[in-house]
Amino acid sequence: MAEEKKVTIKKLNAAKTIGKFMADYYYGLDRAAKTGEKKVAWCTSVGPAEILRAMDFDVYFPETHSAMIGATRMATDLIPKANAIGYSPDICSYLTADVGAYLEGVSPLSKAFEGIEGPPKPDVLVFNTNQCRDVQDWFNFYGEEYDAPVIGVHSYVGVQEVEEAHIRSIAQQMKEMIPALESVSGTKFDIDRLREAVALSRECSDLWKDVLDTASAVPSPITFFDGTTLMGAAVVGRGTPAANDVYRVLLAELKERIANKEGALEDEEFRLYWDGMPVWGRLSAHAKLFAGLKANVLASTYCNSWIFSALDPAEPFESMARAYTELFIVRADAPKETYIKDMLDFFKVDGIIYHDAKTCPNNSNCRYGMPQRIQKASSLPFLVINGDLNDMRLISDEQTKTNVEAFIEQLAESK
Ligand code: SF4
Repeated sequence: MAEEKKVTIKKLNAAKTIGKFMADYYYGLDRAAKTGEKKVAWCTSVGPAEILRAMDFDVYFPETHSAMIGATRMATDLIPKANAIGYSPDICSYLTADVGAYLEGVSPLSKAFEGIEGPPKPDVLVFNTNQCRDVQDWFNFYGEEYDAPVIGVHSYVGVQEVEEAHIRSIAQQMKEMIPALESVSGTKFDIDRLREAVALSRECSDLWKDVLDTASAVPSPITFFDGTTLMGAAVVGRGTPAANDVYRVLLAELKERIANKEGALEDEEFRLYWDGMPVWGRLSAHAKLFAGLKANVLASTYCNSWIFSALDPAEPFESMARAYTELFIVRADAPKETYIKDMLDFFKVDGIIYHDAKTCPNNSNCRYGMPQRIQKASSLPFLVINGDLNDMRLISDEQTKTNVEAFIEQLAESK
């Protein structure tokens, strides 16, 4: 068997800066909800956040809360609470864990941030179904509970080429949300403020892309597991200057590592790509498992999902429509495969891990022959890990360990 050894995974100093950003973000939301000094909008993670920023909302993203529920391993006890009121154990475990936490009156925020009891009460909830339909059901639940309006964009799925007709339809839907948002916020929509938010968001996207692209260096200064927490500011802070500031700090540190030929792992022998959701309750265990086998999982489809290179302040609605439709998760298999093949070359990887997340078919790309087709085209081996993002009852740690060890051994033999 491939030999597993104890290794050091080097911590990034900028992680503290991003941790402080996240704390300020949650305290800001908590203050807004408690004092009413700002209205709070809930938004899906790849929803039209720029419009909400332009209209003075503080924006909360429930998926980050649910990822925290998973990472703190609270999810498995909470999911059955949502199952009991009719949300199936087979649907998104972000949804079921989050609804379960609400029903139980618990939140990981209260442990992480003193004085915060839980998520901020919404004044409005805004979704985009570009990632899945579950987000609409998720927001509808809270809309009922909090008696708040739920509005959103109904997106296309399985998109081959992004066409003008897609852009027109999505941009129009975004424009049609404005009157409802004006009536909740009490702020008149101003196109120049939207241009500002789109420009800041684009800058955030460019910086985040530069951060992730540093993983093409050999050795890579960053791991996928670092990325899953460092991406917090790109998810919740895009459209604000503060998010861009923290990524400048992070990027400088990563560039310094590259200049010093310093990798995130002490010894990087194998370079891997991750497709699919992280297993939030096993982030640290998986980081150690791979690092112990001298394998750096250094790039992923998941972290790249918050790169929106189409955003353009000159055409705010249309470019948002394009950016949020060009996304990997929205696309058909053919463009997804082209994208992954480009990533494999760019990041110079030796193999691919596909996470088949039981409750997220939308972000599991190994169910219709894609790994086999990509292997045929790239000659790179792959491994499928069966698991889930939040429901740890769907994980077999022993099986994952055995499969990963055998996979790395296979890579070692072919080197
Ligand atoms: S994409 Fe997957 S994890 Fe995200 S909300 Fe939809 S079903 Fe849940």
